[in-house]
Amino acid sequence: MLGDTSRRDFMRMTAMTAMGVWAGGRAMAAGGGTGESSDMSEQEKAPSNAGQQQVALAPPDKQPPDLKVPQPVQRKVGFAVVGLGQLALEQVMPAFREAKLAEPVALVSGHPDKARKVAEVYGIDPKSIYDYQNYDQLKDNNRVDVIYIILPNSMHAEYTLRGLKAGKHVLCEKPMAVTVQESERMIAAAKEANKKLMIAYRLHYEPFNQKVMELCRQKAIGELKTFSSSNCQNVQAPNIRLSKALGGGAVGDVGIYSINAARYVTGEEPVEVTAFQHQPKDDPRFREVAESIIFTLRYPSGVLAHCECGFGHARSERYRVVGAKGFIEMDPAFGYTGQRLFMTQGSADQGGAQKTEIHLQPVNHFAAEMDHFAECVISGKDPRTPGEMGLADMRIVTAIHEAARTGKPMRIES
Ligand code: NDP
Repeated sequence: MLGDTSRRDFMRMTAMTAMGVWAGGRAMAAGGGTGESSDMSEQEKAPSNAGQQQVALAPPDKQPPDLKVPQPVQRKVGFAVVGLGQLALEQVMPAFREAKLAEPVALVSGHPDKARKVAEVYGIDPKSIYDYQNYDQLKDNNRVDVIYIILPNSMHAEYTLRGLKAGKHVLCEKPMAVTVQESERMIAAAKEANKKLMIAYRLHYEPFNQKVMELCRQKAIGELKTFSSSNCQNVQAPNIRLSKALGGGAVGDVGIYSINAARYVTGEEPVEVTAFQHQPKDDPRFREVAESIIFTLRYPSGVLAHCECGFGHARSERYRVVGAKGFIEMDPAFGYTGQRLFMTQGSADQGGAQKTEIHLQPVNHFAAEMDHFAECVISGKDPRTPGEMGLADMRIVTAIHEAARTGKPMRIES
């Protein structure tokens, strides 16, 4: 049986272990939770563990002479989220909680009940809920700086143009639009309105893909030779991705990640593409869009890329860059989380190759992307993934569709 004192010690130890801490003095007091820190004796605070090395868990109670206190954010940039579908509800809205400079202040939806529920959860004024008809009234909402368009692809151009006309900056989901002409109109409208237009290429804002960009720039695997990529998933009907009228299709939806990654890996624009597609007649999902598309891209330096995308496949999302002196692989590469990055340097036939995994601290892609755009709005600088990048991708997407349709290689004019 435990005596009174030892029972108290035992309970305190159990409480501290449950908290995952074993620290005395200020750390316990600061951590709170037990409510006993103030009346503990020095002996009680630091129980003797004979033979066990004591490690200071709390930092010394000293402040560096050059201590910098982070300044509070004066005012966050207000975002209106347009289209409360899967991406908006499952990724973007929750990501605001991790954003430092961006906050949701308005919603646009065709379903007022859903919008009201979402507004309640995220503390958005119900007066700042709009639908697709009164969307243009956003111009009178001073709290809205940025409109984030998360609609079916066929609606991106219209809602970007109307948003810019309402005097707001626009963050638009990928693919930027359905045609090159729409994309050009969006860029021209942003210039005319003197507002910023950014395409939501989230992988430019997360550390694993950023690391690949850096390694390729530094020629860590020598001169680049080839890029291969796979971004496929199994899409169930009904889905905007399967509808031609809504701008569906695998190239603009998932293939665009490979197109965009090939650019940030090579730093080049392709000059020619070839493509094949398969549209099965016996699967009703693929009445309007192809199931599988493979495409190749030729770059001015001689780098060649070969990529696959599709909607009837097991999830596959990886890429590999092969250089003269090694290769870089990311698998998975394109998802919201879980990136794994490997680099192999040297060659197995020349005395051995060394493969290492590169570990990095992941971030929330959407919070990082929205914070970047908010920073651009605050500071006036241009976004890293502007409308022009979306347009360059749309030129490639269009050429791939044309090459797949005609069975002929297509030149890409920039
Ligand atoms: P959903 O179909 O889940 O959502 C689209 C939303 O758009 C709907 O919920 C609806 O919102 C609104 N909408 C308005 N008119 C229509 C219409 N005629 N038909 C269907 N929806 C309509 O799509 P996702 O959220 O998956 O994708 C939306 C966009 O985000 C696409 O452009 C897609 O490419 C992009 N995306 C980007 C990703 C990324 O990682 N960057 C990942 C996934 C998607 P409401 O009911 O509120 O009116």
